[in-house]
Amino acid sequence: MGYKCIQCGFTIKTLYLQYSPGNIRLMKCDNCKAVADEYIECEFMIIVIDLILHKPKAYRHLLYNVINQETLKFQGLLWKLASIFLLFDAYKCLILEYSKGKLGSSMSYSSLVSLCCKMLMDVFLGNFMFLLTFFFMVKIFLHISIGVSRCNDILLGLLISCYFKIFLIAMMVWEFPSSVVFIIELFCFSSNAVALKVMTESSMSRCVWTCFSAYAIKLFITQAPELILLGKLMQGWSQMPFTLSLKSTFI
Ligand SMILES: [Zn+2]
Repeated sequence: MGYKCIQCGFTIKTLYLQYSPGNIRLMKCDNCKAVADEYIECEFMIIVIDLILHKPKAYRHLLYNVINQETLKFQGLLWKLASIFLLFDAYKCLILEYSKGKLGSSMSYSSLVSLCCKMLMDVFLGNFMFLLTFFFMVKIFLHISIGVSRCNDILLGLLISCYFKIFLIAMMVWEFPSSVVFIIELFCFSSNAVALKVMTESSMSRCVWTCFSAYAIKLFITQAPELILLGKLMQGWSQMPFTLSLKSTFI
């Protein structure tokens, strides 16, 4: 990934010229004639706020001009981010199980083992299916050819745009309702869609559908037992008035 103009996404050689320490001149984009990356001179908090506001400019700055393959140890960063992502996902599973009352000090050994198996399946199988669906949709729906390098770039962008998961740490300190987990997931979903739009230059609606498909598959895989149970319960409820009415007619 080379440096990019944050306004139009045009590739640019350098973002600024340094005359002396602290004395720099920002370069202009050859395509749109605007300053290529004004965030270089901005405070860190302004960039964070713009990222939270889902401004594509801020995402281009982060994904192309801050995280650059030539200046960073790309593979190392990818592995670290993937590990952190999986850890946060495992913690999310723990929160959800705790909210269902399945977690406690009086747990038996067998229920602890089954909980660990469920967590591992949710985290690894859920995310494997998530990535499989995501890249399948990127190739088929967004018509992007995916080589190894391109795949790594998109994966890195996807992991970085899940930065909202960091708010899960707050749930270790303070007690929040478990619904906060779904709000964080929703923010990650919208952030992933903006990052995908910035990386592929596709239309926003197509990026949203791509991310939505991946999230839907992950939700189905991780919540399948609960969904089946819910389906059976609903089936039972739908038959209840019929059986009651039958009884009342015979009585
Ligand atoms: Zn430009």
